[in-house]
Amino acid sequence: LPKIFLQASPVLKKIQQAGFEAYFVGGCVRDLLLGKEPHDVDIATSAYPAEIKQIFKRTIDTGIKHGTVTVLNQHRAYEITTFRTESSYQDFRRPDHVTFVRSLNNDLQRRDLTINALAMDLNGQIIDLFNGLQDLKQGIIRAVGIPHERFHEDALRMMRTVRFASQLSFTIETQTLNAITENAPLLKHIAVERIHEEWQKLLLGSYPQKGLAPLLETKLYCYCPNFAEQKAVLKQLVNLPQLKFNSVAAGWSLFGYLAQLSITEMIKLLRAWKSSNSLIKSTTAAIQATRSVMDNKLDQWQMYSLGWSALQVACENVNLLGKNCSLTAMQQQYQALPIKNVKELAVTGGSLITSLNLKPGPQIGELINNLEKAVVTGRLPNTPERLLQQAQKLVLE
Ligand code: ATP
Ligand code: MG
Repeated sequence: LPKIFLQASPVLKKIQQAGFEAYFVGGCVRDLLLGKEPHDVDIATSAYPAEIKQIFKRTIDTGIKHGTVTVLNQHRAYEITTFRTESSYQDFRRPDHVTFVRSLNNDLQRRDLTINALAMDLNGQIIDLFNGLQDLKQGIIRAVGIPHERFHEDALRMMRTVRFASQLSFTIETQTLNAITENAPLLKHIAVERIHEEWQKLLLGSYPQKGLAPLLETKLYCYCPNFAEQKAVLKQLVNLPQLKFNSVAAGWSLFGYLAQLSITEMIKLLRAWKSSNSLIKSTTAAIQATRSVMDNKLDQWQMYSLGWSALQVACENVNLLGKNCSLTAMQQQYQALPIKNVKELAVTGGSLITSLNLKPGPQIGELINNLEKAVVTGRLPNTPERLLQQAQKLVLE
């Protein structure tokens, strides 16, 4: 067993010694069986949260209402969740009321997909009630139980299904796929942030096209914020010979490039997805860079103002679009810029004010801007003498 399981084993043992059941469950078991390193282990137990808190000295009430207690052991944190059922679904979202149960079977039943409904005990024995092992082996994503009911209970599961297809390059089983088509409109009941989280995981997956294709086919995309009009773009992405993104901004920027939206419209779209300002900034810079490289219009000032990471993403986008862009050549061009940042300019607003006896004000910013441009484009050397001389000239004009 990988280290991450061995490290957690004493925690499970301790729960068992107290007379309860404890298993590894969900994503970590799936990843283990796929030969992937799990990023964390989830532990499920028959013990109630209060009982877990009695067994361990150091605990945190992470989500007591949902049955989750974090246990600290050997400087590591483990999420331990009581077996539960989610009986009362309201509004097609996960209920905030859950019922604790003592049986693992009931807990596995409420899980979304057969590949996520596997449990493993301390001996490495797999508990597989829904043929998740076979689905794992065959590369199939299948809802636990009756797909239609499961997506009706919780519409987010539809987004999870397509994102796992992207992460694992699995095929969605027909009835599960049909149930997504039938229930797709229910996605509008799900918080945008949660949809965005799954979309980001889809973009970052190893095979985004394996997730984008069913997103299109089932029309689930129509219920993603502002995506209803973007069918053609999603189709283009699916039809590219290959697709793989190193960052969320990279994915969004290729989308934005293909959508041919103005930067203002793109910002509006990203805001509808409740994107962070930093994501919006990196995405729009990468879109502009992609456009310039595609049109062979990239100049020094653009390279400087868009920054290296936007250029790197642009180069990758251009390659995905079937045009050649050499990252090494791009890097050399970028490295050759006289300065990379206004902080490297040989004068500052303050030094202009003192040396030329100027009054502070917007004029100073304009001067700096002017000098910055002159240095970046190679029209002036980055020395205090020449920059002051030029600034003096500009002031007198
Ligand atoms: P990841 O590698 O992205 O963490 P994961 O499968 O561990 O994948 P989590 O969101 O961490 O996903 O959820 C842990 C487990 O909880 C899942 O494997 C699944 O069994 C269950 N689960 C999560 N979300 C849902 C849901 N919406 N409906 C039913 N079961 C769910
Ligand atoms: Mg997880």
